[in-house]
Amino acid sequence: MTQQRPPSPRPLWRLGDSGPAVAEIRRKLVRLNLLPEQEQAEGADAFTAAVDAAVRHFQQQRALIVDGIVGPETYRHLDEARHRLGDRILTHWVGRPMVGDDIAELQQRLLDMGFTPGLVDGIYGARTGHAVREFQRNIGLVTDGTCGPSTYRALANLTRTVTGGQPQAMRETEHLLRAGPALAGKVLVLDPGHGGDDTGVEAHGMTEADQVWQLTTRLEGRLTALGVRTYLTRPENGQGSVVSEEERASFANATDADLVISLHVDGHANPGANGVAAYYYGHDTRYSPTGQQFAGLAQRELVARCGFGDDRIHGKTWSLLRGTRMPAVRLEIGYLTHYGDAGRLLTRREEIVESIAVAVQRLFLPPEDDEPTGMLRLPSILL
Ligand SMILES: [Zn+2]
Repeated sequence: MTQQRPPSPRPLWRLGDSGPAVAEIRRKLVRLNLLPEQEQAEGADAFTAAVDAAVRHFQQQRALIVDGIVGPETYRHLDEARHRLGDRILTHWVGRPMVGDDIAELQQRLLDMGFTPGLVDGIYGARTGHAVREFQRNIGLVTDGTCGPSTYRALANLTRTVTGGQPQAMRETEHLLRAGPALAGKVLVLDPGHGGDDTGVEAHGMTEADQVWQLTTRLEGRLTALGVRTYLTRPENGQGSVVSEEERASFANATDADLVISLHVDGHANPGANGVAAYYYGHDTRYSPTGQQFAGLAQRELVARCGFGDDRIHGKTWSLLRGTRMPAVRLEIGYLTHYGDAGRLLTRREEIVESIAVAVQRLFLPPEDDEPTGMLRLPSILL
């Protein structure tokens, strides 16, 4: 004999209900910051007035019918809302598409960057998959249409600069990223001048050793983000003893560096002396072509981007320039003794770092990718 069972009711929860399903609804609302954290107490499974208010708030946000009742539609939305971009691997499943708020966010980001994922509907359909593939192709990732860790990383990096859909910023960022592979594997020695007991030039309450250290560490960050491996020739200012030019050269020679960049700031008894200059190894007919090229590139960028006077590039036979196996360039970035230059060192620090990083890129970029000065901007994301 079989017992007639009543038809199972449509899942529906409202004020006054309780049980495991309500406990789950409460957890979801807490995660969405719609219900205070303290409501997530152990064993809390009652559909209280606070839960009712939170559900109504959620329904209002989602343009659902605002009735405080968790039916199938509201429950589905609650479930989709739990996904945050980057929480899970997203891909296009034919016939059984993934849905969630993370997908809506992905679609919005793709739209902002000029790709066409279709509607921002939170459904990972064919068009979204296609847009992801396009995005991956643009930045040199494997074009599998699947959002995994590397795609998320690229998205996170880009979205910070590309907000509100700035096509120009995107184009330049793409340019930069296309150059990425060329820079990956490059090795640079960064040489912040002076240090230890040797402060270098002192003026306007600033020291050369400290200024070039500030620039070097920022430059190191930017280059590292571009895939460049960097070595520094000395520790932070005030630590350790003075490192000689010869020691710096032999340190560089012990690495497999492609280029050495030495950073200095000039000083002069005449407070009117100002401007930036770049030095490479050169004497009569013997000179380092790559050094000369990089000196020219860095000089050009520093003058154009930071407002320094142009004291030109010069061939020299100084220890560091002569003693290194690889091309080495010394940049004298303004005069600390000059009021305007000292100000630029403080206020244009990011532009100075960008100038040098862009010069590095230009040095290793194929000529056809080269653009006039000022066109290429390193996104601040790469800090
Ligand atoms: Zn110096």
